[in-house]
Amino acid sequence: MYVKDVVSRLKQLYPEGYFHINRDPFYLLISTVLSQRTRDDVTIPTTQKLFSVFGTVQEMAEADAEEIQELIKNVGFYRVKAQRIIDISRIVLRDYGGVVPDSMDELLKLPGVGRKTANCVLGYGFEQDVIAVDTHVHRISNRMGLVKTYDPDETEKELEKVVSRQDWKDINGLMVLFGQNVCRPVGPKCGECIMEDICPKIR
Ligand code: SF4
Repeated sequence: MYVKDVVSRLKQLYPEGYFHINRDPFYLLISTVLSQRTRDDVTIPTTQKLFSVFGTVQEMAEADAEEIQELIKNVGFYRVKAQRIIDISRIVLRDYGGVVPDSMDELLKLPGVGRKTANCVLGYGFEQDVIAVDTHVHRISNRMGLVKTYDPDETEKELEKVVSRQDWKDINGLMVLFGQNVCRPVGPKCGECIMEDICPKIR
């Protein structure tokens, strides 16, 4: 009942959800790789800049690492990520005919792709019922007492037990917006939060 109430309040707060996200699987894949250990306000323009120069899997696969580094140098670990982007693009081109695979097992074979990245691609790109657990989802779920976990993979499994399946793919977008604007990592705005009356505010 509590979890249902939380999800319903989030939907009420953000009725359009994460509507502005680009749902092309390759774009999602590369943007999620770029987002690792990087703030959203840096990731979004950097992804746009990269795709404005290298717009396709083929172009990305044939790109020079230094050119990509130059375009993405605002994100953390940009040298490693530049090489990963090229490697991922070459594998997608060589092994999957240029089409991003739509299964967890295949996505996890790509360099630098973990469950969060794979679930973002599967949820947003292929509309599969998955819960992508990033730092916002992990923090908010624990703070609100929806789960009691120590790492995002565990959070994913525990959330699957308590959230209705039909809401799985919406959880990430709703909690990202909520985490950026209200239940922030530091200085959560509890006084103006719509969850104030029900949230146990753990930690
Ligand atoms: S009351 Fe505070 S801790 Fe709880 S969800 Fe709202 S902002 Fe986060």
